[in-house]
Amino acid sequence: MARAHSTAGSSSGFSGYDLDLDKAIDLIQKRGGRRVGVQAPEGLKRATPALAQLIEEKTGAEVIISGDPCFGACDVDMQLCQEVDLMLHLGHSDIGIGPDNVIFLEARMKEDLRDVVDKAANVLKAKRVGVTTTTQHVHKIDQVLEGLKKNGIQGAIGPAGGRVKYPGQVLGCSYSTARALDVEEYLFIGTGQFHPLGIALATGKRVVTADPVTGEVAEIDTDPMLRRRFGAISRAGEAKRFAVLLSKKPGQKRMALALRLKALGEARGLEMFLVYLDNIEPDRLLNLGAEAAVSTACPRVALDDAAKYRIPILTPPEFEVLVGEREWEEYEFDEIE
Ligand code: SF4
Repeated sequence: MARAHSTAGSSSGFSGYDLDLDKAIDLIQKRGGRRVGVQAPEGLKRATPALAQLIEEKTGAEVIISGDPCFGACDVDMQLCQEVDLMLHLGHSDIGIGPDNVIFLEARMKEDLRDVVDKAANVLKAKRVGVTTTTQHVHKIDQVLEGLKKNGIQGAIGPAGGRVKYPGQVLGCSYSTARALDVEEYLFIGTGQFHPLGIALATGKRVVTADPVTGEVAEIDTDPMLRRRFGAISRAGEAKRFAVLLSKKPGQKRMALALRLKALGEARGLEMFLVYLDNIEPDRLLNLGAEAAVSTACPRVALDDAAKYRIPILTPPEFEVLVGEREWEEYEFDEIE
C-alpha cells in the first residue's frame, strides 16, 4: 500500500499522519488523468511537494499544488479543479460538496488512544456517554469504545448524515452526531477547544475532552466563550451599518440565510449590505466602512477569529439575538446543514 506520512509543520520529513494514496493512484491510472491537482490544509502543506513527486513518479501525471489557504472539505479550489483531470483534496472527509473530479484523501493520526481513554474514564461521571471525534481519529472509534467498556462505561455513537460522513464524527459546522444521542455526557477525542465547545453548546451537556497528542483530559467550560459572545452582541448593538458576509466557498455559501438576515436588519432600521468574499480576513473589511458584520460563512470566522477583527462579527443566531428575533437564553451554536 502506498502511504505518505506527513507532518503538520515539521521540516524533518513525513510522520504523524497516514494518507492512503493507493485509491488516488489507482484512480489517476484508471481514468488516465494527465494533470492532477493537490490541495491541502496548512498543517499538511509541507507534505505536498513530496506527494506531487510521488504521484508524478507513479502515474506520469503532471501535478499542480493549490497554493491558496484551505480550511475544510467545504473549501475545494474550484478554479484549480477546472485546470486538472483529477483533484486530490487532503486531510478532510467528503461533505458532499465539490465537482466529480475531486478525491478526498483523509489524514489519519496514528496515536494509540488507550491511555488517554483510561484517563478520560476517570473524569467521566455517566455510565453511558456519547463518543465524538474528528476525521483524523474516526478510524480509532472502536478502540475508544473498547477502552470505555473496560472501565465500565458504555459508549454511544450518533449516526452519520448530511455533511457528516462517519458515525461519531463532528465538524466545526455540524454536531448532528452528538445531538442525535440521548446521553447526559460526551467524550470528545481530538485537539483544540472549538469542537468540544460546539458539542457542549449544541447539546447543553457536560463534555470531557481527551487530546490524543498531548494526553491531556479536561472538562469543557462554555462560560468564557459565552461571555465573549455576549460582549460581541452588545458591541454590535451600537452599530448602524452591517456587512452581511457571504462566502464564495462551495460548502460555506448560504445565500438564502444572508438574504434573510439582511431583510431582518433592514426591518429594524439598520443599514445592511451583502459582501461576497473568498477568504474572510480583517483587511478586506476595513474599506467597506461596516461598523459590525454578520457572517454566514464558516462558523469559525465569527467564533474563532473574532480577536483579529476591529469590528464585532456575529454568527447568524447571534444576529437574531441582536435584533430581537431570539432570546439570549436560546443561544445556539451556528451550524451548516
Ligand atoms: S464550514 Fe468551517 S467547520 Fe465546516 S467544514 Fe468548512 S471549514 Fe470546517
